[in-house]
Amino acid sequence: MNDLAPDTLRAIQHTERERFINSHPQSMALAHAAQQHYLFGVPLHWMRDWPSPATLFVAQAQGATLTCADGVRYADFCLGDTGAMFGHSPVPLARAISEQAARGLTCMLPATNAAAVGALLANTFGLPMWQMALSASDANRFVLRWARAITGRTQLLVFDGCYHGAVDDTLVDLDMASGNTLPRPSVLGQVHNHAAFTRVVPFNDLPALETALKHGDVACLLAEPALTNFGLVPPAPGFWEQARALCREHGTLFVCDETHTISTALGGYARAHRLEPDFMVVGKAVAGGLPCAVYGFTQTVAERMAQTKNAAPEGHSGIGTTLAGNALTLAALQASLEHLHTAANYDHMLDLAAVLEHGLRERIATAGWPWTVTRLGARMELQFMAHTPRNAQDVRDHAQGELEALTHLFMLNRGVLLTPFHSMLLVSPATTHDDVARLLAVFDELLAALRAPQHPQGSAPASRSV
Ligand code: PMP
Repeated sequence: MNDLAPDTLRAIQHTERERFINSHPQSMALAHAAQQHYLFGVPLHWMRDWPSPATLFVAQAQGATLTCADGVRYADFCLGDTGAMFGHSPVPLARAISEQAARGLTCMLPATNAAAVGALLANTFGLPMWQMALSASDANRFVLRWARAITGRTQLLVFDGCYHGAVDDTLVDLDMASGNTLPRPSVLGQVHNHAAFTRVVPFNDLPALETALKHGDVACLLAEPALTNFGLVPPAPGFWEQARALCREHGTLFVCDETHTISTALGGYARAHRLEPDFMVVGKAVAGGLPCAVYGFTQTVAERMAQTKNAAPEGHSGIGTTLAGNALTLAALQASLEHLHTAANYDHMLDLAAVLEHGLRERIATAGWPWTVTRLGARMELQFMAHTPRNAQDVRDHAQGELEALTHLFMLNRGVLLTPFHSMLLVSPATTHDDVARLLAVFDELLAALRAPQHPQGSAPASRSV
């Protein structure tokens, strides 16, 4: 473990747990009370996936600052795992939501701003046609249905280590030895054999991608432009140009899930890097954190969708939910596209993220730890491995669960929130230089606590920005 004695880690972990318990009496009491009516004491069981001894209960979140039940203020670099990427409750969004709340919430009919919102979506993300859902999971599920329906093909292709939400078809793993698809063992209540309809290949592996596509039966490749849910794994130079060409050659649609990678640049990764997806999906932050997701598609795909729907018998399509595209969501989406998805916001986020990346790299190099920082625009990850990971297996091989958990808790105890899933840091338009300085000062404290040995010169860790 990077020369870190497990005893050292455990001793610090013990001190940090005590520190949390002593400084969070209100959260401890609320956690106790919530046990009575919530499974695991939380409204959604993932809310316990934090390394603190009890759940942190939130009193308020504003801008890049979160205040817990005990009145402790945190510089929030988790930002709701991207839902609040543009900051918590941005003023134009809060205003639009409260104004619309007085004018009707949901009618199962388009509000008068629907056409304007469609134009804003096209302008921001570069695809002409759109549909709405309430979560990125839903949007991905609906796109998979459309892709299979319009191509008449059954197979789906994903990358090992992918996460596209609670989408059964994608909750599969790769058996590295055989190359076969395996059901993901953690998934509960699974009875369908998705392994029969989903192929999985390692990220950044063009020969494996070609092998999976060449049977001519893959409806779509559903992918993030960089893996963000299994450690941040950037595409190798040239990977997407060739992957894109292979999809075209084999008649496979390319669905780009930009739910996290809109951190890259205004309009997302695919737009910035000209990937020309057939479909794209954006959720979470697209409407500033209000439940909303959208999926866009090309004119050609739209025509195929219309033909397929018109040719189908009357009745349920299996696509859509009652509240999708409701008036409140449309109002929030409009305000977000007009005031949050802006060049000025991205300039701030990307510039400040570069400052943070630089500060982390400098400290890691000085301390001599073989760790890496990988950045994708406004999001970055502190990775406890010496090189930029190439695929999910690379991440698995270098997993440092205890050190990650300790890093989170240590930072949380000093007023800095990281995302509990790997060490992800996100910079919002509301994040300040002071927030970054605070994180770096706490990182200095952590390095001191770990008492890093000095490594010989020339063994500085690799770092990578994409
Ligand atoms: N796509 C990606 C890339 C995601 O990271 C996630 C969630 N982390 C989702 C889809 C699903 O989002 P939601 O949970 O909001 O449905």
